[in-house]
Amino acid sequence: MTTQQWAATASDSARRGKWSARVAELNGELNALLSFDADARAPVAVSGDGPLFGVPFVVKDNIAVDGLPLTCGSRLLADLVSPYSATAVARLEQAGAWVAGKANLDEFGMGSSGQHSAFGPVRNPWDHRAVPGGSSSGSAAAVAAGMVPLALGSDTGGSVRQPASFCGVYGLKPTYGAVSRFGLVAYASSLDVVGIIADTPQLARAAFAAVRGADEWDQSSVTAAASQPAGMPSKVGVPRVALAGLDARVAEVLATAEHQLEESGCTVVDVELPALEHVAAAYYVIATAEASANLARYDGIRYGARVGDGGGPGEDAEKLVRATRSAGFGQEVKTRILTGTFVLRSGFQEQYYQRAQRVRTLVREEVERELRRCDLLLLPTYPVPPFTAGSTAGDGLDELQQKQADLFTGIANLTGHPALAFPVDSNGGRPIGMQLMGPAHSEEQLLAVVERLTERWPPPRPGSHIGEVA
Ligand code: GLN
Repeated sequence: MTTQQWAATASDSARRGKWSARVAELNGELNALLSFDADARAPVAVSGDGPLFGVPFVVKDNIAVDGLPLTCGSRLLADLVSPYSATAVARLEQAGAWVAGKANLDEFGMGSSGQHSAFGPVRNPWDHRAVPGGSSSGSAAAVAAGMVPLALGSDTGGSVRQPASFCGVYGLKPTYGAVSRFGLVAYASSLDVVGIIADTPQLARAAFAAVRGADEWDQSSVTAAASQPAGMPSKVGVPRVALAGLDARVAEVLATAEHQLEESGCTVVDVELPALEHVAAAYYVIATAEASANLARYDGIRYGARVGDGGGPGEDAEKLVRATRSAGFGQEVKTRILTGTFVLRSGFQEQYYQRAQRVRTLVREEVERELRRCDLLLLPTYPVPPFTAGSTAGDGLDELQQKQADLFTGIANLTGHPALAFPVDSNGGRPIGMQLMGPAHSEEQLLAVVERLTERWPPPRPGSHIGEVA
């Protein structure tokens, strides 16, 4: 549907009812949304002509919305209701968009598959056997299924771009600091950004324009001048050597994207990013180290559903914390907290954490060097197509393989650069997307390029799609 049709649906209770029934039906198949309410925040009448007026959106459940649950996909926070809204949410609302629900996710944003939520796995609307990607699994699946045209997600190591690619939609990871993190539950603070998932690049552009800019509640946020999209870039670089282990289908789709850029007047050149092979390892050291500190607050005393001992006078606080965290956190989260605690242990810091920080510096230098030689970089989002859920056989990926595969997305989090994932090929129901990465604060440029590509090569829709409900 167009944004005008969405606005009309929002302000007409009969149309809204029909839409709501269809969303409920689809959600029964996909488990994309943890909560949905077509009425609570819907505008009574939609006036104004901004591109976001009347547009419903869903919010990844690690981003706060005043009065709504904030579970982070964790049993530990199953009963938490947020007393305030994240800045990105408030700014979208000020632009006339409205919150329709909260989206499922991998617990605390940890995962690449959408299978690590305490509230059950999310299915890919293209093919229910395939994972939707993660950790913004519900956000991407909801947009791909047409439940809503827009969603907020978070991207610490690829969590907006990888599920967007797996679900055949657009996923923008802004420059670090371009969007306020106020109201985003911290996973790894030096890598976290609030990102946008949308069914068109135009809508992603409108949403980014609304949320961007400094915020007094996040000292790392900045207002940068909007980049002026100067037509198509002249030179796009592809880090060829790093692509050795690519799945054959992903390699073909990369070639398609290169071809589309060339057809649009760009020159595609090879670039060198030798540090790329260390990105996944460095990312996981830094992310788990920061996570082990950030997640210490979920102890049943400050936050979290308390388990066991009441913690009153004379009672054993350590027992309470242990019982709460043992019962509340899922296995993947526990593994990461332990890993993060380990890499920060005295005696091991030099071997892991300091080394990872040096890789981070090296990767940033390499990316900056190549972005002086070319305008943008083109990369796959993920080295394999959406894999089959719950299996390590066949095209399944085990946990370690999933982590190693985060290299192409993790790079932009380590360096802070913006990157935009866009659909290129539906690959018989297992969509493959690519990403463009550019200089700091080049989001408008990235979106403009992808808009041009989309006009000429429009991506198809999945089978499980809401269609026109009006
Ligand atoms: N897949 C990565 C991880 O599991 C990225 C997560 C994210 O961006 N939140 O850490």
